[in-house]
Amino acid sequence: MKLGFSTLSLFMNKIQDILEIAYRDNFNIIEILCEGPYMPRLMLKNKEEINFPKIRQIASDYDIEIFLHGPTVDINPASMNQGIREESRKQIMEALEIADLLNGKAVTTHPGVVHRREKRIRDLATNFCIETFIPCQEFAEDLGIALSIENMPKRFSYLGNCPSELNKIANAVGCGITIDWGHANTYENPEEYLKLPNINYFHLNDNNGIKDQHLNVGDGTADFSKDFLKKVDYGIIELNNYENVLLSRDFINKKLIDGY
Ligand SMILES: [Zn+2]
Repeated sequence: MKLGFSTLSLFMNKIQDILEIAYRDNFNIIEILCEGPYMPRLMLKNKEEINFPKIRQIASDYDIEIFLHGPTVDINPASMNQGIREESRKQIMEALEIADLLNGKAVTTHPGVVHRREKRIRDLATNFCIETFIPCQEFAEDLGIALSIENMPKRFSYLGNCPSELNKIANAVGCGITIDWGHANTYENPEEYLKLPNINYFHLNDNNGIKDQHLNVGDGTADFSKDFLKKVDYGIIELNNYENVLLSRDFINKKLIDGY
């Protein structure tokens, strides 16, 4: 498994510094969380200060691959409001531009939310979501970057909260999938997610099977057996504290070696 972590755990640090830490601690990937100062639009505006060529150089010297988690806070690709959908599309496109500047491999994003329980409204939201993502997928293909939509926790308002809905969207868009194994653990049969085609990579975190708690790997009820971990080619530990990232890394490496 190639293993990395989300920059959420070192939020607000400079990307160069995070790459140094990743190299020191034997990680092969980082996933940049594109929120706050790392909003793609802001990064494009502050190109000089960010120094994209320098980041690319460090990542390549250290043999660290860069993935991006596109912005998701307060946008909604499935919104009933056309203006919000357009803004969501723009922001995903901008994340793809940043991925291109950083030689990034993949951009993950969320399918969006729907606030009404009627099936016809959910179907409409799903179609809007697909419509929002299709031009993003075309742009991603032009750039040679994988656009990847993530499965969400099992709450009715989230689109992509079960394998069939996530697959329906990814299939219609023609994009790949990011499996958040903690989110999958809130669904009754998490392993159904593993049967989906076009899985790009995994987010690794744990919970009690009910709430999306983002606990350390091994501290909840999600399956982190050797059998599961062997199926993960690319894994991103997604926690908000770097000490816990290291504990999770050690748990995963020990499992993969000893199997217990
Ligand atoms: Zn996510």
